[in-house]
Amino acid sequence: MTYEAFKDDSLGFTTRQLHAGYDPTEHDRSKAVPIYQTAAFELGDYDRCVRLFDYSEEGHSYVRFSNPTNTVLERRISSLEGGVAAVSFASGMAAISGTFFNICQQGDEIVAVKTLYGGSTSLLESVLPDYGITCNWVENEDDPASFEAAFTDRTRAVYVECLGNPGMNIVDIEAISKIAHAHGVPLVVDNTFATPYLFRPFDFGADIVCYSATKYLAGHGTIIAGLVVERGGFDWLNGNFPQYEQFYRDFEGSIGVEALKREMFSKRLRMRSLTDFGGHMSPMNAFFLLQGMETLSLRMDRHVANAQAVAEFLDAHPKVERVNYPGLPSNRYHELAKRYFPKGPGAILSLDVAGGQEAALKLLANLRVFDYMVNVGDAKSLAVHPASSTHFSQTKEERAAAGVYDNTVRLSIGIEDTADLVEDLRQALETI
Ligand SMILES: *Cc1c(COP(=O)(O)O)cnc(C)c1O
Repeated sequence: MTYEAFKDDSLGFTTRQLHAGYDPTEHDRSKAVPIYQTAAFELGDYDRCVRLFDYSEEGHSYVRFSNPTNTVLERRISSLEGGVAAVSFASGMAAISGTFFNICQQGDEIVAVKTLYGGSTSLLESVLPDYGITCNWVENEDDPASFEAAFTDRTRAVYVECLGNPGMNIVDIEAISKIAHAHGVPLVVDNTFATPYLFRPFDFGADIVCYSATKYLAGHGTIIAGLVVERGGFDWLNGNFPQYEQFYRDFEGSIGVEALKREMFSKRLRMRSLTDFGGHMSPMNAFFLLQGMETLSLRMDRHVANAQAVAEFLDAHPKVERVNYPGLPSNRYHELAKRYFPKGPGAILSLDVAGGQEAALKLLANLRVFDYMVNVGDAKSLAVHPASSTHFSQTKEERAAAGVYDNTVRLSIGIEDTADLVEDLRQALETI
């Protein structure tokens, strides 16, 4: 028997989520991926130490920037995503901020949409400007021309999410990637809500994918974790990124031109972001994440089937004014959903309840299976009132632009029995 599944990227998604990137012969033939619970590694001798520190040899020295458990995880997500390399972070926000700092310098600008995760919006709006990095918001996310209009000669990245929060709007990623590339800048996609099982942004021209792996990838609501994946092929030496020209000069001799050109973004992310800012994922969390990802495709199929059933039930209910779920044929993003999300557009949806805020809060108070929580992507079903929580700090106008009204409830649909979720919503809607 010759076990080779770990290095065969032609295998199916579900096979790779179990095997990709882990060669047991490199780890005393342990079948489970071992947790390397150590802060540092023996350097061996002087020559090896020099090779590790000038990066001419791949290996581990200090766990602020690499660990063998994390390496397996990084190879696995690269395989599932169709990328060349990945870097693991302690949280989704660490992954996203690390990405921006790895692309932008003082004076640079980012083009971004308004319907982002709240932490990403405030990073762009309130934190990065202190470091001279500013954001130009896209006026109309549904119109690629509006992205073009937001560009200046200082734009260095375009940032979008695969599914907007909480209105589940879908931007035309392929059209936007063409605009970004015409300006010589990368398209960065936060793919948290879809995971590589439902959507592979690289297939449509994205250059970098970020994850809050806290959500569906880990899948069970037990850890905080983030990932950044690189597609490879973006030309970081096109004149827009002087920091990469310096990096290239510094490391072409030791890392080698081929490896450097293949995964320059990830190499720099590890060396500059993880090494100098910190924020690496702990090996224990890498293990939990690997374990969660073993069932990713099975869970996502179930999440999506449940979400579709719940959306159809709510859509037909007289006490529901509106349901935002692109899987419904009446949804304005349904055509984009069919093109980009053929297996289903995720499992998060929002609804506007008839009867205003009072009715929305009553619905929440009377749910028995759904739990009242701000996060998403758990195996268990969750519900929240965005106007008083995730979108609390925004003005009424800003909320309306994101599709958040006083009577809006957001649901993150879990993998429970479909009938129990529908029945729970039915009885709670009855009370309003
Ligand atoms: C949760 C979330 C984040 C932030 O991730 P953390 O792991 O909580 O730091 C970023 N983007 C999206 C879309 C999220 O849902």
